Amino acid sequence: MKVLVAVKRVVDHNVKVRVKADESGVELTNAKMSINPFCEIAIEEAVRLKEKGIATEIIAVSIGATQSQEQLRSALALGADRGILVETDAKTYPLQVAKILKGVAESEGASIILLGKQAIDDDNNQTGQMLSALMNASQGTFASEVVVNGDKVTVTREIDGGLQTVELSLPAIITTDLRLNEPRFPKLPNIMAAKKKPLDIKTPADFGVDMSSKLSTLKVVAPAERSAGVKVASVDELIDKLKNEAKVI
Ligand code: AMP
Repeated sequence: MKVLVAVKRVVDHNVKVRVKADESGVELTNAKMSINPFCEIAIEEAVRLKEKGIATEIIAVSIGATQSQEQLRSALALGADRGILVETDAKTYPLQVAKILKGVAESEGASIILLGKQAIDDDNNQTGQMLSALMNASQGTFASEVVVNGDKVTVTREIDGGLQTVELSLPAIITTDLRLNEPRFPKLPNIMAAKKKPLDIKTPADFGVDMSSKLSTLKVVAPAERSAGVKVASVDELIDKLKNEAKVI
């Protein structure tokens, strides 16, 4: 069973991002870039499926600029068998990414396609759902447990106030939630071995996808600065302030 994992290059989650002066986005010059954390969880799940003898091959795919090869190499160090970079300098939006992933999944004959539930840069939470619609395939989003039984996959989903368990037929699209697993750290020999693993370069046109989007970002602004807090001396003072200053009670 082939497993495809979508890996997005994003600004590292530890970086405190700054909005660009022209409000066109966040400043990425010299910022540390990493694999989107939810995609790391997706790779880990694929590797566990291979360790259980369920997955036979793990293919990591990224859509983006040439530098996304770094994140694909990291995915290879974590256990993916080969990588595919669909190279584009265009900003990637969920619909275009989903169309490309459909092309890759179908040409590879992937049975399970694992994605993060969201990319932490744009917070779209759309790509997996769009891919499922385009492929007319079943989806299990926000997965906190994945169990493969023959040609079915049972996915436990994290939903408001509880858990929902769904059974999917293959091919299935699964998006990962935070509690699905804890990704391993790559070992040095695996980092070295990853340099020799195959990494193919394709273009969106190879999958018949036009990267122009009907969506454009108008502006990005930083959240308003929080004003400094005050310490109150007593509960009575707090209640007084809430009533008469904040006027919330
Ligand atoms: P999003 O819908 O943008 O929040 O992204 C959800 C998931 O879709 C990510 O965690 C990735 O698994 C996948 N994805 C989104 N954009 C890309 C991309 N440019 N390349 C590879 N995978 C992507």
